[in-house]
Amino acid sequence: MTTASVAVIGGGVIGASVAYHLAARGWRDVVILDRGAGPGQGSTGRATGGYRAQYATPINVRLSLLSREKICRFEADTGVDPGYTPAGYLWLGSDEAEMRELREGQRIQRAEGLSEAVEVDPAEVGRLNPALAGDGIAGGVFCPTDGFISPLRLLEGYLAAGHRLGVRVEWATEATGFTIRSDGTVSAVLTSRGPIGVAAVVNAAGPWAAEVAGWAGVALPVTPLRRQVAVTTPCDLVSERMPMTIFAGDGFHLRVRDGRVLLLWPTPGVEGRPFDASVDPAWVERVTGIAHRRVPVLRGAEIDPAACWAGLYEMSPDRHAILGPAPGCPNLFLVNGSSGHGVMHSPALGQLLAEIMSDEKACSVDVRSLRPTRFAEGEPNPVSGLL
Ligand SMILES: Cc1cc2nc3c(=O)[nH]c(=O)nc-3n(C[C@H](O)[C@H](O)[C@H](O)COP(=O)(O)OP(=O)(O)OC[C@H]3O[C@@H](n4cnc5c(N)ncnc54)[C@H](O)[C@@H]3O)c2cc1C
Repeated sequence: MTTASVAVIGGGVIGASVAYHLAARGWRDVVILDRGAGPGQGSTGRATGGYRAQYATPINVRLSLLSREKICRFEADTGVDPGYTPAGYLWLGSDEAEMRELREGQRIQRAEGLSEAVEVDPAEVGRLNPALAGDGIAGGVFCPTDGFISPLRLLEGYLAAGHRLGVRVEWATEATGFTIRSDGTVSAVLTSRGPIGVAAVVNAAGPWAAEVAGWAGVALPVTPLRRQVAVTTPCDLVSERMPMTIFAGDGFHLRVRDGRVLLLWPTPGVEGRPFDASVDPAWVERVTGIAHRRVPVLRGAEIDPAACWAGLYEMSPDRHAILGPAPGCPNLFLVNGSSGHGVMHSPALGQLLAEIMSDEKACSVDVRSLRPTRFAEGEPNPVSGLL
């Protein structure tokens, strides 16, 4: 039987970040297993690449700030430019109740050290994004250091830097189960290419993480949620530097990427088929109608059906990551449930899990609020309606 000190199940941006950070801390014999034929076959390849620190809980702000620090030195650390473009995130409130929630978010952000996020009035909203129709906007919040990153370049950087430090990646290798010792720990990962004896396992299986945890008898509350993206043909109707613009009330948001406008609007997934990641043409029609009303200049743009795509978020019950050893299986480490924020938080989560696995405790950030046992203990994080 082949062996590894750590098998990381999942070679998306989170698994790659964990493997790199373990190797950078001196771990040897780390292997990433992924059933995809190559990088980016999971959610990471479907992400639009937004980065923000404007969140409504201290822990999410801290994860973003640590990630930003690491994104700013990513090229020096890994040799790959992560494409950080601080075009800003502009959140729009339609009434006083929404503005109150956005302001409450800013209070938390400031307390965590995000001083550059500001409240903006409707006139300033119009200056920041002149393409907006403007009616029904009571104001907004804006953070100029939020913006965009490239999900696939982050993944490429962590894989390349991990490789230089000795991390092995086995593509086209499906993990299918665990061999469990009598004390509940994992002794081997069973794969489509044979078993691998391990000292520790990292569950980085994105939206598929609950199944992996189940092999160790661990009930991991992570569920997939379809997210669709409507894409225009290339056009210059709105600027590539337009901030990510989000209507807080219903989550409709848009940005420009590679010369095309991306339109997003959250809806429930397909009933009875949670892993279905197809694009629904009726949804495309509805989101296009919303865009035409709120960003009238887009009436001149055409949707490119072949370019539209969908993927899966990996939702946890409180929409926060689940980080640390699995309850009842101390050598299975969870880094799951980022709930659609996994690309931007991958630099921080990889470092923090490597700290936990090396020293039994994360030292860069207090991650108690992400502990896997919080749901059973009745202490989930608060879920903001907007941010
Ligand atoms: C439309 C859309 C837009 C998004 N936009 C953003 C954004 O703007 N910013 C942001 O931060 N995040 C965004 N996300 C969320 C982001 O994509 C995820 O949070 C992130 O990619 C999770 O990374 P991961 O490595 O955990 O998952 P993945 O990239 O899905 O990696 C998991 C890997 O595990 C592998 N795997 C699963 N089971 C097994 C098994 N049994 N054996 C072997 N391999 C296995 C899969 O093949 C996959 O490669 C978006 C997601 C979608 C769908």
